[in-house]
Amino acid sequence: MDAPIIDMHGIVKRFPIGTGEELEVLHGIDLTVRKGEFVAIVGASGSGKSTLMNIIGALDRPTEGTYVLDGVDVGTLRDKQLSRIRCRKIGFVFQTFNLVPRTSALKNVALPMMYNGVRGTARTQRARALLDMVEMGDRAGHAPSQLSGGQKQRVAIARAMANDPAILLADEPTGALDSATGRLVMDLFHRLHREQGKTIVLITHSPELAGECQRIVTIKDGRVTGVRRGGGAADAAV
Ligand code: ADP
Ligand code: MG
Repeated sequence: MDAPIIDMHGIVKRFPIGTGEELEVLHGIDLTVRKGEFVAIVGASGSGKSTLMNIIGALDRPTEGTYVLDGVDVGTLRDKQLSRIRCRKIGFVFQTFNLVPRTSALKNVALPMMYNGVRGTARTQRARALLDMVEMGDRAGHAPSQLSGGQKQRVAIARAMANDPAILLADEPTGALDSATGRLVMDLFHRLHREQGKTIVLITHSPELAGECQRIVTIKDGRVTGVRRGGGAADAAV
């Protein structure tokens, strides 16, 4: 069995709200994801999925608990080290795409490579290859406003792949798309999982899409209330 790439124990997250008060959103989450696994996280709005995703993606730190990301205890890292790990190991995909406006698809995809120190020509070449991979090569010069929702999401997935991260984190990536377009985006995730061995954590409201993953983790009110195998779990143990 492959080693865990995401290993969380007792994750608690509290947010300060106003005068000295705090809101506890996650109440002690344990979550282990193996390298190359495709996991869905499901749960009602407000249950803490995005808060958890931000911690998995090292965009935020837990208030309590331990998180070991690909063998590194993130609690021991300074902010700068944490950003570097995030930049190299994690690709993010969001419901609302979060592309840089008035900037071409090509430059959007090249941007994370710039932060990672990849030089100009190599950056452009790889950005073009990634756009080809998501079948957006003929839209390289288009700004996000000139693209459809599905096209924007494909560019965003190409961008998430820029630094060849081990983990793709997708927070309701099909939530703003019609079901046929969402289907194409989901197929792309399946392909990246199958062909490139990416570890994928997908937050979704769609029971159908969740059911295609290898494991489905249900979150309710900041707690994991269920874990089950999905249709994509060929021989994976829960
Ligand atoms: P989900 O993604 O499952 O819809 P979220 O993780 O976005 O849920 O939010 C869970 C709860 O945490 C909500 O009640 C939300 O208002 C609260 N929350 C999220 N982020 C913050 C924050 N930065 N400060 C205060 N409360 C927050
Ligand atoms: Mg959310």
